[in-house]
Amino acid sequence: MSTPAPNDPASHSDAAAAVPGRKPMDAIMSLCKRRGFIYQASEIYGGINGFWDYGPLGALMKRNLREAWWQDMIMNPAWGRRGPNGEPVRCVPVETCIIQHPRVWEASGHVGGFNDPMVDDRETKQRFRADHLCAVWNSLKLEEHHTELPRDKPFVSVIASTPGEAVAHIQSNPKLLRPYRLHGSFKVSPFDDRVWVAEASDKDATLLLLVRAVEVDEIRAHHDLIPSPFTQKRSVLTEPRQFNLMFFTYTGAVFNEDAKVYLRPETAQGIFVQFKNVVDTTRVKMPFGIGNTGRSFRNEVTPRNFTFRSREFEQAELEFFCHPSESREWYAFWRDFRMEWWKSIGLAGDNLVLREHDKDELSHYSQGTSDVEYRFPFTAPGFGELEGIAHRGDFDLTQHQKHSGARLEYFDQERGELLPNGSRRGERYIPHCIEPAAGLDRGVLALICEAYTRDESRPSPEFMKFHPRIAPIKAAVFPLVNKDGMPERAEALHAELNRRFGRQGLIETDAKQTIGKRYARMDEAGCPFCFTIDGQTMTDQTVTVRDRDTGGQTRIGIDRVAAFLSDRLGD
Ligand code: ATP
Repeated sequence: MSTPAPNDPASHSDAAAAVPGRKPMDAIMSLCKRRGFIYQASEIYGGINGFWDYGPLGALMKRNLREAWWQDMIMNPAWGRRGPNGEPVRCVPVETCIIQHPRVWEASGHVGGFNDPMVDDRETKQRFRADHLCAVWNSLKLEEHHTELPRDKPFVSVIASTPGEAVAHIQSNPKLLRPYRLHGSFKVSPFDDRVWVAEASDKDATLLLLVRAVEVDEIRAHHDLIPSPFTQKRSVLTEPRQFNLMFFTYTGAVFNEDAKVYLRPETAQGIFVQFKNVVDTTRVKMPFGIGNTGRSFRNEVTPRNFTFRSREFEQAELEFFCHPSESREWYAFWRDFRMEWWKSIGLAGDNLVLREHDKDELSHYSQGTSDVEYRFPFTAPGFGELEGIAHRGDFDLTQHQKHSGARLEYFDQERGELLPNGSRRGERYIPHCIEPAAGLDRGVLALICEAYTRDESRPSPEFMKFHPRIAPIKAAVFPLVNKDGMPERAEALHAELNRRFGRQGLIETDAKQTIGKRYARMDEAGCPFCFTIDGQTMTDQTVTVRDRDTGGQTRIGIDRVAAFLSDRLGD
């Protein structure tokens, strides 16, 4: 469960594209549709807000991402590295239900706590989180009242803005300020004794603003004075209302309160409630992790930015349990590994950051939280969360122990006083837990945005630079022309590669159109290697290998193709 997220920029339609260096989100979305990565859910009925389907290439790509997570977190955790205790890291999987006993969500704090206050614009029917409104409200005041302050009070900062589309983030702050993140240069000035404002301007941003977190009650009192963020009209906003993010339904034939159940808003709780069974029925020993992947559901107030904030999405979560005395080292271990992992599948460079939360951003039980964040085109120059790595202490197991009455302590035979016979007395404790919680849909979206490349000098200027491990199509085999024995040789090579690599993704073949068009089609789908059978193949048994990123071609023996691909795919 999260603290309120910073404002999502209002729209993906691209002011962003006009800013140098930002990729055009509209073009990315259009390629996703055109090539079968992502479709609007229920599109023929006009779509349904906050829900997205994956087409053939998207489904394959998402499977590759899920598989990479499974492989590197469960089957061979942390690439076989040893943990801070000097032992290999051990993890096991579970697969738990979307619907759990309703009391699970009371214990976890989701019933009662998982609420966002929201306001509606009665005219435009837009809905905003109340805590997102404050920035816009106060920015207007800034122009009227601000006075300059010394620069040695770096409390507040602003990231991007276009007029009327304020995205303001604060990081370290005086007590009254809500924690957000810090980017860019700024001037800070007091507005009154409770409000601080910040001004930023650079070549991309006009001006901006900020603000303290205004209490919801205060917004309630002033909602008719606050202008609607995009139309700037007053007296159109409703009072803030609590909005529970959990979807609910009923089990059984009678629809009453007793039959009410929730669709899970995260996969993690399934792990905590099965912790005891896993300990009792397997040979796991502390420290160890339990992983769970699957769909989660949140009735987000304002789903937006393509799949970034959806109402149905997939998570891949690990809960790593350890002795409290070792939890800080394990937190650092997982935080660093998760960052390295995202880099290893293609999100390297300045677009990926690890952001350690400030102390005042942490939940009361947490000794540390970091987010792996990606600079999406719609958050740039700011970042959006891909994964949170949280030190959750013993909070979750303690809560479930309290609410369920089950004993969730672990008896550790390898701890406690050393006995004369050389064994240990043992120690009973509630383990601490480190939680790397990733979103697979945000992962796919980040990988798509990162891969999207335009090069006007190429015959077909758009192509996708996927890491081979993630690419939905691993390779393509083409006959240069559809005659002279080439199609048969291509078919044989295609069958061989398919047998060998078909588990990992598609191996394509295609004999239609010019070879240039076929290459362009593969480039757009992000296929890293094309092998072409041409006239020379028939005489010297070599094929061309075309590299997607450079367009360069080399020749290798046809009998070397499988080994070549195996090297590149890490098979
Ligand atoms: P945010 O602050 O953006 O709402 P969060 O902090 O609530 O995210 P977590 O509860 O930590 O998210 O969930 C773990 C991961 O699940 C997130 O890092 C993200 O990748 C993914 N996730 C959460 N909410 C959504 C959503 N509405 N749509 C898509 N992915 C999501």
